[in-house]
Amino acid sequence: MNGSEKRIYVDNAATTPVSEEVINAMLPCFREAWGNPSSLHADGQKAKDLVIEAREKIARSIGCEANEIYFTSCGSESDNWAIKGAAYASKKRKKIVTSKVEHHAVLHTCQALEKEGYEVVYVGVDEGGKVKLDEIRRAVDEETLLVAIMMANNEIGTIQPIAEISEIAHQNGALMFTDAVQAVGNIPVNVRELGVDMLSLSGHKIHTPKGIGALYIRKGVRIKNLIDGGGQERGKRGGTENVPYICGLGVAVESAVNGLGEMEKVRALRNKLIDGLLEIPYSRLNGDRENRLPGNANLSFSYIEGESLLLWLDMSGVSASTGSACSSNSLEASHVLLAIGVDIEDAHGSLRFSLSKDNTEEEVEEIIRVVKESVERLRAMSPIYPGK
Ligand code: PLP
Repeated sequence: MNGSEKRIYVDNAATTPVSEEVINAMLPCFREAWGNPSSLHADGQKAKDLVIEAREKIARSIGCEANEIYFTSCGSESDNWAIKGAAYASKKRKKIVTSKVEHHAVLHTCQALEKEGYEVVYVGVDEGGKVKLDEIRRAVDEETLLVAIMMANNEIGTIQPIAEISEIAHQNGALMFTDAVQAVGNIPVNVRELGVDMLSLSGHKIHTPKGIGALYIRKGVRIKNLIDGGGQERGKRGGTENVPYICGLGVAVESAVNGLGEMEKVRALRNKLIDGLLEIPYSRLNGDRENRLPGNANLSFSYIEGESLLLWLDMSGVSASTGSACSSNSLEASHVLLAIGVDIEDAHGSLRFSLSKDNTEEEVEEIIRVVKESVERLRAMSPIYPGK
Protein backbone atom coordinates (compact mmCIF):
# COMPACT_ATOMS: atom_id res chain seq x y z
CA MET A 1 0.00 0.00 0.00
CA ASN A 2 1.22 3.56 -0.53
CA GLY A 3 1.57 6.18 2.22
CA SER A 4 -1.49 8.18 1.18
CA GLU A 5 -3.95 5.28 1.61
CA LYS A 6 -6.17 5.54 4.67
CA ARG A 7 -5.23 3.02 7.33
CA ILE A 8 -7.44 1.48 10.00
CA TYR A 9 -5.95 2.05 13.45
CA VAL A 10 -7.10 -0.41 16.10
CA ASP A 11 -4.08 -0.34 18.42
CA ASN A 12 -5.27 2.33 20.85
CA ALA A 13 -4.11 0.35 23.89
CA ALA A 14 -0.53 0.79 22.60
CA THR A 15 -0.91 4.49 21.98
CA THR A 16 -3.30 7.06 20.53
CA PRO A 17 -2.88 9.94 18.07
CA VAL A 18 -2.44 13.37 19.66
CA SER A 19 -5.76 15.20 19.50
CA GLU A 20 -6.27 18.70 18.13
CA GLU A 21 -7.54 19.95 21.49
CA VAL A 22 -4.38 18.67 23.21
CA ILE A 23 -2.20 20.35 20.58
CA ASN A 24 -4.16 23.58 21.04
CA ALA A 25 -3.77 23.38 24.81
CA MET A 26 -0.01 22.87 24.47
CA LEU A 27 0.75 25.60 21.91
CA PRO A 28 0.55 28.60 24.31
CA CYS A 29 3.12 26.84 26.53
CA PHE A 30 5.66 27.03 23.71
CA ARG A 31 4.83 30.53 22.54
CA GLU A 32 3.75 32.54 25.60
CA ALA A 33 3.95 30.53 28.81
CA TRP A 34 7.46 29.16 28.27
CA GLY A 35 8.76 30.32 31.66
CA ASN A 36 9.93 28.10 34.49
CA PRO A 37 7.01 27.55 36.89
CA SER A 38 9.45 27.88 39.82
CA SER A 39 10.49 31.41 38.77
CA LEU A 40 8.89 34.15 40.82
CA HIS A 41 8.59 36.65 37.96
CA ALA A 42 5.55 37.07 35.71
CA ASP A 43 6.96 34.80 32.98
CA GLY A 44 7.31 31.98 35.48
CA GLN A 45 3.92 32.61 37.02
CA LYS A 46 2.17 32.28 33.65
CA ALA A 47 3.55 28.75 33.35
CA LYS A 48 2.80 27.99 37.00
CA ASP A 49 -0.85 29.03 36.54
CA LEU A 50 -1.21 26.58 33.65
CA VAL A 51 0.25 23.74 35.73
CA ILE A 52 -2.17 24.55 38.57
CA GLU A 53 -5.09 24.53 36.13
CA ALA A 54 -4.08 21.16 34.65
CA ARG A 55 -3.71 19.63 38.12
CA GLU A 56 -7.20 20.84 39.04
CA LYS A 57 -8.73 19.41 35.85
CA ILE A 58 -7.24 15.98 36.52
CA ALA A 59 -8.24 16.03 40.19
CA ARG A 60 -11.85 16.92 39.29
CA SER A 61 -11.93 14.17 36.68
CA ILE A 62 -10.86 11.35 39.02
CA GLY A 63 -12.51 12.63 42.22
CA CYS A 64 -9.62 13.88 44.36
CA GLU A 65 -7.99 17.11 45.56
CA ALA A 66 -5.52 18.92 43.30
CA ASN A 67 -2.72 18.50 45.84
CA GLU A 68 -3.08 14.72 45.58
CA ILE A 69 -1.94 14.72 41.92
CA TYR A 70 1.78 14.46 41.06
CA PHE A 71 3.05 14.75 37.49
CA THR A 72 5.55 12.16 36.24
CA SER A 73 7.21 11.31 32.92
CA CYS A 74 4.96 8.32 32.08
CA GLY A 75 2.81 5.49 33.41
CA SER A 76 5.89 3.36 34.03
CA GLU A 77 7.43 6.01 36.27
CA SER A 78 4.17 6.33 38.20
CA ASP A 79 4.06 2.55 38.69
CA ASN A 80 7.70 2.41 39.79
CA TRP A 81 7.24 5.31 42.18
CA ALA A 82 4.08 3.94 43.81
CA ILE A 83 5.58 0.50 44.42
CA LYS A 84 9.22 1.31 45.22
CA GLY A 85 8.20 4.45 47.09
CA ALA A 86 5.82 2.47 49.33
CA ALA A 87 8.36 -0.33 49.85
CA TYR A 88 11.21 2.02 50.79
CA ALA A 89 8.96 3.98 53.16
CA SER A 90 7.85 0.86 55.01
CA LYS A 91 9.82 0.19 58.18
CA LYS A 92 8.51 -3.21 59.29
CA ARG A 93 6.35 -4.70 56.55
CA LYS A 94 8.25 -6.27 53.66
CA LYS A 95 5.58 -8.01 51.57
CA ILE A 96 3.81 -6.92 48.38
CA VAL A 97 0.80 -8.68 46.87
CA THR A 98 0.24 -8.26 43.14
CA SER A 99 -1.13 -10.35 40.25
CA LYS A 100 0.32 -12.50 37.47
CA VAL A 101 -1.29 -10.35 34.77
CA GLU A 102 0.14 -6.93 35.62
CA HIS A 103 1.96 -4.77 33.08
CA HIS A 104 5.74 -5.21 33.08
CA ALA A 105 6.10 -1.76 34.66
CA VAL A 106 4.61 -3.39 37.78
CA LEU A 107 5.94 -6.95 37.41
CA HIS A 108 9.54 -5.94 36.74
CA THR A 109 9.43 -3.39 39.58
CA CYS A 110 8.25 -6.13 41.94
CA GLN A 111 10.95 -8.49 40.67
CA ALA A 112 13.58 -5.80 41.30
CA LEU A 113 12.31 -5.45 44.88
CA GLU A 114 12.46 -9.23 45.37
CA LYS A 115 16.18 -9.01 44.61
CA GLU A 116 16.44 -6.43 47.40
CA GLY A 117 14.86 -8.82 49.91
CA TYR A 118 11.15 -7.95 49.71
CA GLU A 119 8.64 -10.79 49.45
CA VAL A 120 6.22 -10.62 46.53
CA VAL A 121 3.15 -12.82 46.08
CA TYR A 122 1.77 -13.03 42.52
CA VAL A 123 -1.89 -14.07 42.74
CA GLY A 124 -3.54 -15.96 39.91
CA VAL A 125 -6.57 -15.10 37.76
CA ASP A 126 -9.56 -17.10 36.54
CA GLU A 127 -10.04 -17.98 32.88
CA GLY A 128 -11.71 -14.62 32.22
CA GLY A 129 -8.67 -12.81 33.62
CA LYS A 130 -10.21 -11.69 36.92
CA VAL A 131 -7.94 -11.93 39.98
CA LYS A 132 -8.89 -14.64 42.45
CA LEU A 133 -10.17 -12.77 45.51
CA ASP A 134 -9.73 -15.81 47.77
CA GLU A 135 -6.03 -15.91 46.83
CA ILE A 136 -5.75 -12.22 47.65
CA ARG A 137 -7.48 -12.78 51.00
CA ARG A 138 -5.05 -15.58 51.81
CA ALA A 139 -1.99 -13.62 50.70
CA VAL A 140 -2.65 -10.25 52.37
CA ASP A 141 -1.65 -10.18 56.05
CA GLU A 142 -0.01 -8.00 58.70
CA GLU A 143 3.32 -8.34 56.86
CA THR A 144 1.86 -6.78 53.69
CA LEU A 145 2.86 -3.19 52.95
CA LEU A 146 1.15 -2.86 49.55
CA VAL A 147 -1.43 -4.51 47.33
CA ALA A 148 -0.86 -3.59 43.65
CA ILE A 149 -3.58 -4.71 41.22
CA MET A 150 -4.24 -3.10 37.85
CA MET A 151 -7.68 -1.65 37.17
CA ALA A 152 -7.94 -2.97 33.61
CA ASN A 153 -5.64 -5.30 31.71
CA ASN A 154 -3.77 -3.93 28.72
CA GLU A 155 -3.87 -7.19 26.73
CA ILE A 156 -7.28 -8.76 27.35
CA GLY A 157 -9.09 -5.76 28.85
CA THR A 158 -10.39 -7.53 31.98
CA ILE A 159 -11.60 -5.10 34.65
CA GLN A 160 -10.65 -5.93 38.26
CA PRO A 161 -12.83 -5.48 41.37
CA ILE A 162 -10.60 -2.76 42.82
CA ALA A 163 -12.99 -1.49 45.53
CA GLU A 164 -13.25 -4.99 47.01
CA ILE A 165 -9.48 -5.47 46.88
CA SER A 166 -8.91 -2.07 48.53
CA GLU A 167 -11.05 -3.23 51.43
CA ILE A 168 -8.99 -6.39 51.88
CA ALA A 169 -5.78 -4.33 51.79
CA HIS A 170 -7.05 -1.82 54.33
CA GLN A 171 -8.47 -4.45 56.70
CA ASN A 172 -4.88 -5.67 56.96
CA GLY A 173 -3.29 -2.24 57.29
CA ALA A 174 -1.71 -2.35 53.80
CA LEU A 175 -1.75 0.38 51.16
CA MET A 176 -3.69 -0.13 47.91
CA PHE A 177 -2.29 0.90 44.52
CA THR A 178 -3.95 0.47 41.13
CA ASP A 179 -2.42 0.94 37.69
CA ALA A 180 -5.26 2.68 35.84
CA VAL A 181 -3.29 3.44 32.67
CA GLN A 182 -5.74 1.48 30.50
CA ALA A 183 -8.82 2.40 32.53
CA VAL A 184 -8.84 6.21 32.45
CA GLY A 185 -11.00 7.41 29.57
CA ASN A 186 -12.43 3.94 28.92
CA ILE A 187 -14.37 3.29 32.14
CA PRO A 188 -15.33 5.53 35.09
CA VAL A 189 -12.43 6.07 37.52
CA ASN A 190 -13.06 7.69 40.90
CA VAL A 191 -10.31 7.26 43.48
CA ARG A 192 -12.62 7.71 46.48
CA GLU A 193 -15.14 5.15 45.23
CA LEU A 194 -12.32 2.73 44.47
CA GLY A 195 -10.83 3.37 47.91
CA VAL A 196 -7.29 3.36 46.55
CA ASP A 197 -4.31 5.10 48.15
CA MET A 198 -2.42 5.50 44.88
CA LEU A 199 -3.40 5.37 41.19
CA SER A 200 -1.28 5.75 38.05
CA LEU A 201 -2.30 7.12 34.67
CA SER A 202 -0.55 7.88 31.39
CA GLY A 203 -1.20 10.57 28.79
CA HIS A 204 -0.41 8.84 25.52
CA LYS A 205 -3.28 6.35 25.93
CA ILE A 206 -5.70 9.31 25.88
CA HIS A 207 -4.31 11.50 23.09
CA THR A 208 -1.33 13.37 24.56
CA PRO A 209 2.21 12.95 23.22
CA LYS A 210 4.21 10.10 24.78
CA GLY A 211 6.15 10.95 27.94
CA ILE A 212 3.69 12.35 30.47
CA GLY A 213 1.89 10.64 33.33
CA ALA A 214 0.55 11.26 36.80
CA LEU A 215 0.33 9.53 40.14
CA TYR A 216 -2.51 10.13 42.58
CA ILE A 217 -1.26 9.82 46.15
CA ARG A 218 -3.96 10.11 48.81
CA LYS A 219 -3.32 12.87 51.32
CA GLY A 220 -1.54 11.43 54.36
CA VAL A 221 0.11 8.54 52.48
CA ARG A 222 3.89 8.73 52.80
CA ILE A 223 6.06 7.22 50.08
CA LYS A 224 9.77 7.77 49.39
CA ASN A 225 10.88 9.99 46.52
CA LEU A 226 12.42 8.30 43.49
CA ILE A 227 13.63 11.51 41.86
CA ASP A 228 15.26 13.96 44.24
CA GLY A 229 16.01 17.44 43.03
CA GLY A 230 14.45 20.88 43.32
CA GLY A 231 11.28 21.35 45.29
CA GLN A 232 8.94 20.62 42.35
CA GLU A 233 5.74 18.65 42.92
CA ARG A 234 5.69 19.80 46.54
CA GLY A 235 9.14 18.36 47.16
CA LYS A 236 8.17 14.84 46.08
CA ARG A 237 9.39 14.65 42.49
CA GLY A 238 12.30 16.77 41.35
CA GLY A 239 12.67 18.04 37.79
CA THR A 240 11.48 21.19 36.05
CA GLU A 241 7.89 20.59 35.01
CA ASN A 242 7.09 19.61 31.41
CA VAL A 243 4.58 22.44 31.18
CA PRO A 244 3.28 21.81 27.62
CA TYR A 245 2.68 18.11 28.23
CA ILE A 246 1.16 18.79 31.65
CA CYS A 247 -1.31 21.19 29.99
CA GLY A 248 -2.00 18.54 27.36
CA LEU A 249 -2.62 15.94 30.06
CA GLY A 250 -5.07 18.20 31.89
CA VAL A 251 -7.18 18.66 28.77
CA ALA A 252 -6.82 15.00 27.75
CA VAL A 253 -8.00 13.54 31.07
CA GLU A 254 -10.90 15.98 31.29
CA SER A 255 -11.97 15.29 27.74
CA ALA A 256 -11.58 11.50 28.06
CA VAL A 257 -13.73 11.45 31.17
CA ASN A 258 -16.36 13.77 29.66
CA GLY A 259 -16.45 11.53 26.58
CA LEU A 260 -17.16 8.30 28.47
CA GLY A 261 -20.71 8.34 27.08
CA GLU A 262 -19.30 7.46 23.67
CA MET A 263 -17.94 4.20 24.99
CA GLU A 264 -21.30 2.50 24.36
CA LYS A 265 -20.75 3.04 20.65
CA VAL A 266 -17.24 1.61 20.97
CA ARG A 267 -18.58 -1.41 22.87
CA ALA A 268 -21.13 -2.11 20.08
CA LEU A 269 -18.41 -1.90 17.42
CA ARG A 270 -16.17 -4.16 19.49
CA ASN A 271 -18.97 -6.73 19.89
CA LYS A 272 -19.56 -6.71 16.15
CA LEU A 273 -15.85 -7.30 15.61
CA ILE A 274 -15.74 -10.18 18.11
CA ASP A 275 -18.82 -11.84 16.60
CA GLY A 276 -17.42 -11.51 13.09
CA LEU A 277 -14.02 -12.92 14.03
CA LEU A 278 -15.46 -15.82 16.02
CA GLU A 279 -17.00 -17.08 12.75
CA ILE A 280 -13.46 -18.12 11.83
CA PRO A 281 -12.97 -21.84 12.61
CA TYR A 282 -10.63 -22.64 15.51
CA SER A 283 -10.83 -19.14 16.99
CA ARG A 284 -11.44 -18.11 20.59
CA LEU A 285 -11.99 -14.91 22.51
CA ASN A 286 -9.44 -14.31 25.27
CA GLY A 287 -10.75 -12.75 28.48
CA ASP A 288 -14.26 -12.35 29.81
CA ARG A 289 -16.84 -11.45 27.17
CA GLU A 290 -18.65 -8.82 29.30
CA ASN A 291 -16.24 -7.72 32.02
CA ARG A 292 -13.73 -6.06 29.72
CA LEU A 293 -12.75 -2.62 28.43
CA PRO A 294 -15.26 -1.39 25.82
CA GLY A 295 -12.70 -1.24 23.00
CA ASN A 296 -10.78 -4.46 23.67
CA ALA A 297 -11.00 -7.60 21.54
CA ASN A 298 -8.28 -10.22 21.98
CA LEU A 299 -8.61 -13.43 19.99
CA SER A 300 -6.53 -16.52 19.31
CA PHE A 301 -6.55 -18.27 15.94
CA SER A 302 -5.13 -21.79 16.11
CA TYR A 303 -2.63 -22.98 13.47
CA ILE A 304 -1.22 -19.55 12.70
CA GLU A 305 1.52 -17.28 14.08
CA GLY A 306 0.20 -13.98 15.43
CA GLU A 307 3.23 -12.15 14.01
CA SER A 308 2.52 -13.42 10.48
CA LEU A 309 -1.12 -12.44 10.75
CA LEU A 310 -0.12 -9.02 12.06
CA LEU A 311 2.12 -8.49 9.01
CA TRP A 312 -0.65 -9.53 6.61
CA LEU A 313 -2.99 -7.09 8.32
CA ASP A 314 -0.35 -4.38 8.23
CA MET A 315 0.09 -4.85 4.48
CA SER A 316 -3.69 -4.57 4.12
CA GLY A 317 -3.70 -1.26 6.01
CA VAL A 318 -4.79 -2.48 9.46
CA SER A 319 -2.71 -1.61 12.56
CA ALA A 320 -3.35 -4.13 15.36
CA SER A 321 -1.09 -5.80 17.93
CA THR A 322 0.01 -9.25 19.01
CA GLY A 323 -0.21 -8.28 22.67
CA SER A 324 1.17 -5.42 24.69
CA ALA A 325 3.30 -3.10 22.56
CA CYS A 326 6.23 -3.57 24.91
CA SER A 327 6.30 -7.35 24.55
CA SER A 328 5.32 -7.47 20.89
CA ASN A 329 8.99 -7.11 19.92
CA SER A 330 9.79 -10.34 21.72
CA LEU A 331 8.60 -13.74 20.59
CA GLU A 332 7.84 -14.87 24.13
CA ALA A 333 4.24 -15.95 24.67
CA SER A 334 2.17 -13.40 26.58
CA HIS A 335 2.28 -13.93 30.37
CA VAL A 336 -1.33 -12.74 30.50
CA LEU A 337 -2.63 -15.32 28.03
CA LEU A 338 -0.69 -18.10 29.77
CA ALA A 339 -2.13 -16.96 33.13
CA ILE A 340 -5.73 -17.36 31.86
CA GLY A 341 -4.93 -20.87 30.63
CA VAL A 342 -4.47 -20.31 26.89
CA ASP A 343 -2.07 -22.99 25.63
CA ILE A 344 1.28 -21.83 24.34
CA GLU A 345 0.50 -22.46 20.63
CA ASP A 346 -2.73 -20.49 20.77
CA ALA A 347 -1.01 -17.76 22.79
CA HIS A 348 1.38 -17.36 19.84
CA GLY A 349 -1.57 -17.11 17.47
CA SER A 350 -3.37 -14.23 19.16
CA LEU A 351 -4.13 -10.68 18.21
CA ARG A 352 -5.35 -7.66 20.16
CA PHE A 353 -7.61 -5.08 18.57
CA SER A 354 -8.19 -1.96 20.68
CA LEU A 355 -10.87 0.28 19.23
CA SER A 356 -11.64 3.93 19.91
CA LYS A 357 -14.56 6.27 19.30
CA ASP A 358 -12.88 7.23 16.01
CA ASN A 359 -13.43 3.77 14.49
CA THR A 360 -16.46 3.13 12.27
CA GLU A 361 -18.73 0.23 11.40
CA GLU A 362 -17.25 0.11 7.88
CA GLU A 363 -13.78 -0.21 9.36
CA VAL A 364 -14.90 -3.11 11.57
CA GLU A 365 -16.40 -4.85 8.53
CA GLU A 366 -13.14 -4.34 6.63
CA ILE A 367 -11.09 -5.76 9.53
CA ILE A 368 -13.28 -8.85 9.69
CA ARG A 369 -12.91 -9.37 5.94
CA VAL A 370 -9.14 -8.90 6.01
CA VAL A 371 -8.59 -11.15 9.06
CA LYS A 372 -10.74 -13.93 7.57
CA GLU A 373 -8.83 -13.78 4.31
CA SER A 374 -5.40 -13.60 5.98
CA VAL A 375 -6.11 -16.47 8.39
CA GLU A 376 -7.28 -18.61 5.47
CA ARG A 377 -4.14 -17.87 3.46
CA LEU A 378 -1.82 -18.56 6.38
CA ARG A 379 -3.58 -21.80 7.25
CA ALA A 380 -3.36 -22.94 3.61
CA MET A 381 0.42 -22.86 4.12
CA SER A 382 0.30 -24.75 7.43
CA PRO A 383 1.26 -28.45 7.26
CA ILE A 384 -0.77 -29.19 10.43
CA TYR A 385 -4.04 -27.35 9.82
CA PRO A 386 -6.77 -30.02 9.99
CA GLY A 387 -9.39 -28.00 8.08
CA LYS A 388 -7.80 -28.44 4.63
N1 PLP B 1 0.52 0.11 32.70
C1 PLP B 1 -0.27 -0.35 31.73
C2 PLP B 1 -1.46 -1.17 32.10
C3 PLP B 1 0.01 -0.06 30.39
O1 PLP B 1 -0.78 -0.54 29.43
C4 PLP B 1 1.14 0.72 30.09
C5 PLP B 1 1.51 0.99 28.68
O2 PLP B 1 1.20 0.23 27.80
C6 PLP B 1 1.93 1.20 31.15
C7 PLP B 1 1.59 0.88 32.44
C8 PLP B 1 3.13 2.04 30.90
O3 PLP B 1 2.76 3.35 30.54
P1 PLP B 1 3.81 4.28 29.76
O4 PLP B 1 3.88 3.78 28.36
O5 PLP B 1 3.24 5.67 29.87
O6 PLP B 1 5.11 4.15 30.49
